Amino acid sequence: MSVATIAPFVDLAGPPASESWLGAWETSADCAYCRDTAGRLLAANLSFARKFGRTSHALAAAHVADFVHADDLAAVLATNAELARDPHRATSQHRWVTPQGMRWFAWDETALLDEAGVIVAFRAVGRDITRQRLAEEQFYRLSRAVEQSPVSIVITDLDGRPLYVNSKFIAVTGHTLEDIIDQQIEILRAGHPDEASYRAFWETIRRGEEWRGELATRRDAHNTVWESVKVSCLRSPSGEITNFLCLREDITERKKLEQELRQVQKMESLGTLAGGIAHDFNNLLAIINGYAEFCQQGTPPPELLDKSLREIHRAAQRASGLVKQILTFSRKTEVRFSPVDLNQLARELISLLAETFPRTVTFQLKLQDRLPPLLADQIQLQQIVLNLCVNARDAMPQGGTITLTTDTHAGASLPHLHVDPAKRYARLRIADTGTGMSPEVRARLFEPFFTTKPVNQGTGLGLAVVYGIVTAHHGCIDVESTLGVGSAFSAYLPLAENHSAPAALLAAPDAFPGGTEQLLIVDDEDPLRELLATAFTQKGYRVATAASGLDAIAHVQDTTRPFQAVLLDLNMPGASGIDVLKIIRVCRPHVPVIVISGHITPEARKELEALGQREFIQKPYRLDDIGRRLRSLLGARTIG
Ligand code: ADP
Ligand code: MG
Repeated sequence: MSVATIAPFVDLAGPPASESWLGAWETSADCAYCRDTAGRLLAANLSFARKFGRTSHALAAAHVADFVHADDLAAVLATNAELARDPHRATSQHRWVTPQGMRWFAWDETALLDEAGVIVAFRAVGRDITRQRLAEEQFYRLSRAVEQSPVSIVITDLDGRPLYVNSKFIAVTGHTLEDIIDQQIEILRAGHPDEASYRAFWETIRRGEEWRGELATRRDAHNTVWESVKVSCLRSPSGEITNFLCLREDITERKKLEQELRQVQKMESLGTLAGGIAHDFNNLLAIINGYAEFCQQGTPPPELLDKSLREIHRAAQRASGLVKQILTFSRKTEVRFSPVDLNQLARELISLLAETFPRTVTFQLKLQDRLPPLLADQIQLQQIVLNLCVNARDAMPQGGTITLTTDTHAGASLPHLHVDPAKRYARLRIADTGTGMSPEVRARLFEPFFTTKPVNQGTGLGLAVVYGIVTAHHGCIDVESTLGVGSAFSAYLPLAENHSAPAALLAAPDAFPGGTEQLLIVDDEDPLRELLATAFTQKGYRVATAASGLDAIAHVQDTTRPFQAVLLDLNMPGASGIDVLKIIRVCRPHVPVIVISGHITPEARKELEALGQREFIQKPYRLDDIGRRLRSLLGARTIG
């Protein structure tokens, strides 16, 4: 479209005949126009005419309403009032409709007055600021999104000093940007468990790679917050790293759910074992009952009496081993990392499974001699073994062999598994001779709730839990499988460096050492208290007993009754073992105490540890174990 040069439309309104309405803006690159007080156009320069694609003729007949966006018209006319007042100037931003579409204009407006001081027109000079406006709007939208994000966002410089934190970050941590700078808080460090983890983090982001992890931060004495953390590099257009962007999302709730899931699944796998265990127990009880009956019939010969008692004792030992297994397994305990002997754990668990799995399933153990200890949670490791074995059993409905192998591997020799090449790993491999898996099943194996089993037989949680545990131990899993031949699952777990051998590996048990010291035995269960009293009296100790917490407290407070050590039950009605321990710590602060209990909750353990309690023995116990622990507490003065 060709646009004619537009002269001032002097014919439209009176005035200044000799000079142009637009003055110096006649030829300006900025758009300029004049309107009368009613909004009719009096003049417009070439830039304006071009912008609006009109001819001089069309502009001469126009009204601002023909150009201004309908929503902004009232605002344009409202500036008239401002222009009527001294100093007769105003600035404004409005949307105008041009042939290229809606555009934003920023205007400087001035009122033109005649000699009598009466307003004859308004002159507006302005420019198209659409690009800038849109950029600003985009900027505000983005910054609102960042501000209102449910994720904590931090932007730092290359040394990790914060330049920006969003509102969520402030709400979660209670620190504003000023606080962090004033107190020189290293915000990228929060949650890293140790110096090595923090260093590895820096190495990763300095290389320009993204770092992801799950970090736990203690907010106060009772609250630990789990966060999923992602730190990435922000780059300039030329590709240089200019900043780090840290996103932290609260996943405490998810962590709790995961833990509950693990607990549920544990109960489920325990359920699958319960049938077998009940069967086992019945056998043991039959043995105990049978031999007990022998002993009660008439006057049995001494050899039979002796043999019966030995058999009864053996069966009871096995039963208590079984109970211990079930208890450690079913109990909801806190996760505790300690050096674990994987071979020992495998042997114990396999002997339990061998008794409970169908007889058509046989076990084979290939354990590497002198396997170094793992830093792991014993109960969670048991769960890995159990879940993998249960799956193996299910894959062999006609029977077959489960082979459990342990060995060690250098991380560097496992490049396909993306483990830390600098670490050494123990491998726990459980292989079956079952159905194997199709590639489709293999691809979804670790998904929670993925199962190919009938409704009441599978929940699809077993491998999801195994995966969660292995990951929490900084390990990884490898799967091999051939349809119709079998499958093997290998869990690689980092070895504990520089840790002493696990307690189970130390000191072969020796006999029940005796003593002459005075003991106080506290237990509300009569047979157990009597058993302990008899055992220790026989070994030469002098024994006083208390049948309740209150009884025990009275004894402790009575200074005429000295004693050198206490065996203390925890769960008693009335005053509990913890109450008794508190009194002991006050009245007899130097007397050693062994706490004996069937179940110590994490809370109780914490409370006991706060009272300085270190010695715990779990029921069912072995008498000689208590005897040895007591002896080592009292010092090695054994008597003959
Ligand atoms: P579930 O055992 O409850 O089905 P899992 O998570 O333990 O759940 O296992 C998921 C699926 O993976 C199983 O349903 C099965 O199809 C497959 N699977 C797991 N272990 C084996 C195995 N050793 N051999 C063949 N298939 C297996
Ligand atoms: Mg399973």
